[in-house]
Amino acid sequence: MPAPKPESVDIITYEVGFGDCFLLRIHYPGQTRSRSVLIDFGSTQKNNFSLGQVSQKIKSDCGGKLDVVVATHRHKDHVHGFTLSSKNRGTGKVIRDLQPGAVIMPWTEDPDADPKARQPTKRYSAHEKSLVKRLGNMQALAGALAEQSKMFTFAGEKGIRTQLKALGENNLGNASAMKNLRTMSPRTYYAYHNMKLRLSRELPGVKVHVLGPPTLKQSAAIEKQRSRDQDEFWHLQASAAHEALDPLQLFPNAREIKNPVWGRWTRRRLRKARGEELLSIVRSLDHAMNNTSLILLFEIGNKKLLFPGDAQYENWMYCLEKKWVKDLLRGVDVYKVGHHGSLNATPKTMLGLFQKTRSQHPGEVMHSLLSTKAGVHGSVDNQTEVPRGKLVNKLTQETQLTSTQNFDGEISRMISLEV
Ligand SMILES: [Zn+2]
Repeated sequence: MPAPKPESVDIITYEVGFGDCFLLRIHYPGQTRSRSVLIDFGSTQKNNFSLGQVSQKIKSDCGGKLDVVVATHRHKDHVHGFTLSSKNRGTGKVIRDLQPGAVIMPWTEDPDADPKARQPTKRYSAHEKSLVKRLGNMQALAGALAEQSKMFTFAGEKGIRTQLKALGENNLGNASAMKNLRTMSPRTYYAYHNMKLRLSRELPGVKVHVLGPPTLKQSAAIEKQRSRDQDEFWHLQASAAHEALDPLQLFPNAREIKNPVWGRWTRRRLRKARGEELLSIVRSLDHAMNNTSLILLFEIGNKKLLFPGDAQYENWMYCLEKKWVKDLLRGVDVYKVGHHGSLNATPKTMLGLFQKTRSQHPGEVMHSLLSTKAGVHGSVDNQTEVPRGKLVNKLTQETQLTSTQNFDGEISRMISLEV
């Protein structure tokens, strides 16, 4: 019997503050039941709703059953909702109970790629395992940096304090969420560029293309630092950062002068320099993890839906060289805006490929979905604000934009497309 063909899809954007959470609901004619795909469920800065409220809304929207769960990458703003509380409850349990038939995560989450794997396999090279080890060390460092944000208490240091805390906490290991994701379904895919996923049972008549991330055999660009020594570098940084929280006093009995007038100018500048240095370290951790993001393109009937998580330039660069990827991107009908609208996640080459823009194709204008919250990352002064004003303007002009920033107290918004 041929696979039933989808006839429409609902795309639901949930209001989770700074984070991502989307649901696809695919409908079929006749007796075939609708299928649901949850793409990410996390937040670092909530707005009007708790993740508990969002999890109940997901449960009712999918009718008590999830077919596929996607976790694009291991950042808190994408996976925190999958966390199980100490008594195995919480929002992670709500999602687990929806019994997803399959879970998709990036290859860097494969336990076999962990250098500490009990049964090492030949699937991953030493090089790839080294990247996974380094990502683990980076997460250890992120925790220490988030702690250090507490030291920036002076007037004028609020920006450093907020950003260091937000970025540090976002890069923690999220161990409970990841364990829950790995074990909640009978099949877990650890996906990479061009991997063939077998989802015909879960999503009949739907093609899921994996555009990214590449493996290191495919591309070394997603990995910035290549030497093995770099593993140790991040590890040492993590221990040093913990020690800095409890500094050894050289002369414990010496008389101390707190904040002398003649030293204040220098002191402020030294603190600022230190804050900025810590921020640049934590930004590079954040960047490395974003580049492990899945980039998925769902082909449902005649519609193409692009979900790139937070993939940044290096991850995109590999797939944008492929003709088959470019052909798919030209026809995109729905684009989930990368990395909450930060500029480095929507490469101009990719944006330029979209053909269903208002200026080129006014009869059938594509949708874009932006889940974000202003004032969490970056700054307008140095043109790094998230979401980036320029990009939002362009998306408003050229696409039908759904932005959580324009939600009027609703927990979700839905668009429906015939396919
Ligand atoms: Zn994110």
